[in-house]
Parts: sequence; structure tokens; C-alpha cells
Amino acid sequence: MSETTSQSYDALLNFIRNHYGIFSKQEGVIPLHAPCFDEAEKLTVVDCIDSTFVSSVGQYVEQFETDLAHYTGASHAVAVVNGTMGLFLGLKIVGVQANDLVLTQSLTFVATPNAIKLCQAEPLFLDVSRKTMGLSPEALQHFLETETHTHQGHCIHTQTGRRISACVPMHTLGFPCEIDQVVEICHQHHIKVVEDAAESLGSFYRKQHTGTFGDVGVFSFNGNKILTTGGGGMLVTNNAKLAEHAKHLSTTAKKPHAWYFEHDEVAYNLRMPNLNAALGVAQLGKMKSFLKEKRTLAQGYQQIIQNQPGLAVFNDANNENIAQSNYWLNAILCQNASERETFLMLTNEQGIQTRPLWTPMHQLEIYQQALRAELPNTEWFAERVVNLPSGIHCAGVRK
Ligand SMILES: *Cc1c(COP(=O)(O)O)cnc(C)c1O
Repeated sequence: MSETTSQSYDALLNFIRNHYGIFSKQEGVIPLHAPCFDEAEKLTVVDCIDSTFVSSVGQYVEQFETDLAHYTGASHAVAVVNGTMGLFLGLKIVGVQANDLVLTQSLTFVATPNAIKLCQAEPLFLDVSRKTMGLSPEALQHFLETETHTHQGHCIHTQTGRRISACVPMHTLGFPCEIDQVVEICHQHHIKVVEDAAESLGSFYRKQHTGTFGDVGVFSFNGNKILTTGGGGMLVTNNAKLAEHAKHLSTTAKKPHAWYFEHDEVAYNLRMPNLNAALGVAQLGKMKSFLKEKRTLAQGYQQIIQNQPGLAVFNDANNENIAQSNYWLNAILCQNASERETFLMLTNEQGIQTRPLWTPMHQLEIYQQALRAELPNTEWFAERVVNLPSGIHCAGVRK
């Protein structure tokens, strides 16, 4: 183990420059993850405009829902305005109520606990696994066994007396967590599972698509995700009743009628506009080639970093047959926080965008007071991980 702070990362930096065909900062910055469009997107978007159906009713919404359900193997898909609101809607339909506790990981994007707070519930942070960077089944099991009890078919947090109604595991950076175990443990304890699959479209666990294990799964199509609709999200479920309720709640709970406006619940407008869905349909058609290119890039990173002292790749090679990442963002591990700082500085100075993981939620002022278990793995990852440029290479499009 070397402890030098003046590593040469030249081989890695040259590999990145070669891959993206940008060789100096003057030529352009290599982004962490930028979208990639061509004629296919222009065709569907222009067709959508020509149809005049650009808002929340239109054929592209239906087609995108059908295509995504087909792609993921989920029986139902409901398109929504973004991933954050998809999580909110998912928590609502599985029955999360004001003052409930909802389990999730601290190592996530802030949208996850924010969606919990939108339900007037409180997040309770658990640790992630060193194997997956996602919610640890061991931490979950330990917490439930030592800190909760069952009362009238509900899981109760013994210390506060509050009900734990749901759990939101997240597939970090596209690496699947051990979702089968998480779901089994939760269901044994009467806890619903809303999978935050915002980052994991194209990631599979035991050959089953992430987001389809829990009661509900949610994808995001924000501009930085593997596939984008500008802004957008999708809720998937295998439960017809939940799907129907999600659609209803996202459409002002309007009762179907040709002209009367009757609404039977206080609800929301969370529908994805047809214009965004048009972009999604074209993008989803490219998933296969996106995934192939990302996997090749990930393999390239692995080869280079194998011979790079001071850095290690985080990958799904440990259990390749079990978990298949979409490699949304490639992640490397630095030896410690100060090495990471040096690496971030050096790469960004040279026009290569690299980023640390999110500050863990329990370290943010807004969630400092939240309940939590011990979080050693969360803190371990948070001070070491760096994300490398991982976008699809769009030849000649961006300068
Ligand atoms: C992107 C993301 C979201 C939110 O999705 P938006 O579409 O941006 O609202 C939620 N959770 C995670 C983990 C994400 O990465």
C-alpha cells in the first residue's frame, strides 16, 4: 500500500481523453454524464408537436409506459413528472401516513428522504453493504430484530412507538443491492418496499430487473440518468390495484367521464407530459446499445485501474452472475479522504469532470436530527468513492 500523495494518474487520464476524443480543456470539458440524442429523438419529438398533444394526454405517454413495462418485465407502469414525485406517489399508494417512520439508506441522493418527508413521515437511516453500496440486508435485519416489535399487524419502532410502514432501498449508481433479501425481510415485518431504482434502469438482479422486486419501483429520467426525458419518472408495480391508484392520484383523482369533472380524493397532478414521453420512447429504443457501450467503458476502466496504485474499481465482478449493473456511473475507491481530494482536484483542473458521492444524509444539517443506526459503511464509501465520466460517447455532437 503506497501512501504517496503525488500518484501519477496519467494512464487513466489518457484513457478517458481517448475514449471521449477530447484532449484539452480548450477543446471542451468531459462531462460526468451527458445525454446523447440523434435523429431518432428529433423524429418522435417533432411528431409529438405536430400532433398538438404535447401535454399529459397522448399516445407517447401510453407507448412509453407500455415499452418500459415490457423492458423491465413489470406488469404495470405509470409515467410521472420526475423520480422524486414518483417516490412520493409510491410511498402514498403503499400506505405511508403522517408520523410514520420509513427506513432507507443514508448513502443516497437527497430526493429519497425528501420524498419521505413529503408524506409527512420521517426517514430512519440504515447502513449500506460493503458488497453493493446499497441497503444492507444484515443491517436491516439487525435493526428490525433489536429495535422493533409487531403490534396488530404493524411494525412498531419500540423507542418512539411509531409505525414503520415502508422501506426505500436504493440501487446505488446502478449497482443492484441484495433486493431479494431486503424484500423478504421487510415483508416478514409487515413493511412495504418502494425501490428507489432512479439510477438502475438496465440493472438486473438474478436476471430480474431492479425496481420489480418491491411492492413498487421508481425510475428517474432526469438529464443525468442513463436515459432521459428531460425530466420524468416511472412508477412500476406488479399489483394492478396499486397501479390504478397511482394513476388516479397522479391525475387529480378524476373519475372517468366524457365531460363532468368529478374527483373522489384530494390528489395531485404528477403526469408526465406527452412531449417528454416522446423523447423517452426514442431513448428507450437505444437501451441495448447504451448498455453495451457502458459495459465496454467499465471494462476499460477496470483494466487501467488494475495497474493503478492507490485506486481500486468498485464493480459487480464479485457476483457477476447475480448482479448486473448498468454502470450508470463508474465508481473508483481512493485510499482515503485526502487522496480523494487530490484526485478530484487534479481531474477537474484538467477538464475531466469527476465527482464524490453525495454527502450522506445523516451528515446534512436538514437530516442531522433524523433517527439512525450505526453507519460505518456509509461513511467508509462517502469518503473514498469518486465517480468517473461515464456518459455515452456522442460523436461530433458536443464541443
Ligand atoms: C435522480 C434520483 C432521484 C430523483 O429523480 P428526479 O427525476 O431527479 O426527481 C431519486 N433518487 C435517486 C437515488 C436519484 O439518483
